[in-house]
Amino acid sequence: DPSGSTPTIRELDDRTVTQIAAGEVVERPASVVKELVENSLDAGADRLSVAVEAGGTEGIRVRDDGVGMDRAAVERAVEEHTTSKIDTIDDLEAGVGTLGFRGEALHTIGAVSRVTIRTKPRGGDTGTELRVEGGEVTAVGPAGCPEGTVVAVEDLFYNTPARRKFLKTTPTEFDHVNTVVTHYALANPDVAISLEHDDREVFATEGRGDLRSAVLSVYGREVAEAMRRVDGGNGEADGEGVSPDASPVESISGLVSHPETTRSTRDYLSTFVNGRYVTAGVLRKAVLDAYGGQLAPDRYPFAVLFVDLPADSVDVNVHPRKMEVRLNAEAAVTRAVTDAVREALLAEGLIRSGAPRG
Ligand code: ADP
Ligand code: MG
Repeated sequence: DPSGSTPTIRELDDRTVTQIAAGEVVERPASVVKELVENSLDAGADRLSVAVEAGGTEGIRVRDDGVGMDRAAVERAVEEHTTSKIDTIDDLEAGVGTLGFRGEALHTIGAVSRVTIRTKPRGGDTGTELRVEGGEVTAVGPAGCPEGTVVAVEDLFYNTPARRKFLKTTPTEFDHVNTVVTHYALANPDVAISLEHDDREVFATEGRGDLRSAVLSVYGREVAEAMRRVDGGNGEADGEGVSPDASPVESISGLVSHPETTRSTRDYLSTFVNGRYVTAGVLRKAVLDAYGGQLAPDRYPFAVLFVDLPADSVDVNVHPRKMEVRLNAEAAVTRAVTDAVREALLAEGLIRSGAPRG
């Protein structure tokens, strides 16, 4: 209105605030799966299974044999900003040892779906079932269930139809789910992780702690047999007497494929920083550089590469949905990655020394 009156500023109600915030954490079924799998791993699970229906658009169930929760804990867990993992920002600065710490996943997932949690503490004698619908706890009571936790999410975005409309086809949504669970299975070979889609098993790792056997379960025999071991980095990076441009990398380990075992996308170049999957283009490029001219045009190898850095040289406190990471001394880190992968390939005679880099 040109007469100078200003729009009325209103305070949003809690429900609306939560539903808006939910969009930041929960974009699609794969983001729900990511949060639930991280919770299961943080709970110390030795086995965890993920089952989804219709790419996760109809249902998602994550079951673990972790520490479980008693009734008071599970009631608290679904509230806003409740976590058992950190107390203050100092804990984050010191390098958080858990995958989660924001205390918002269960709350926000519950705000945009119908959630049932069944959980029993290890060694406890009573289990609890709690239901949340659209942000309201609708039922809570004792339930017979095994030790550990099962979280079932149904009707994702039933109360936010605009968001539901943005879900893609079942195969596309399932692809995202598969990618997420694959990365956790590769990063945690000591945990038996399985994925089921519409009652069909997609993969199941054995959890014996061996990366090659996890790769075999996830990518199959041809790929597992083409993988070569990478083992590099400074070992002990105490910082003393190291030149300023030295890489802070403590270790670089994992598996990379023979230059002839490739795919047509970069999606199989998986990099993990301090155990966390990251989509770092610079790290993927560092791996590719090691192959020099040995890859056919537009072909990309497989890699499962773990880069360990001192906590103070990475920032994981970036956007929850993006799996990005900020690295100090990025150039030194990428050089160290290229060198470690190169060394592994050279040792096997898979690339020629002096092959052009990059
Ligand atoms: P965050 O993981 O950031 O702490 P969440 O909302 O994902 O926040 O979970 C809240 C809390 O609920 C966790 O801190 C944890 O104590 C508890 N919790 C969630 N999932 C599980 C699980 N699968 N097993 C045991 N405890 C869990
Ligand atoms: Mg969490």
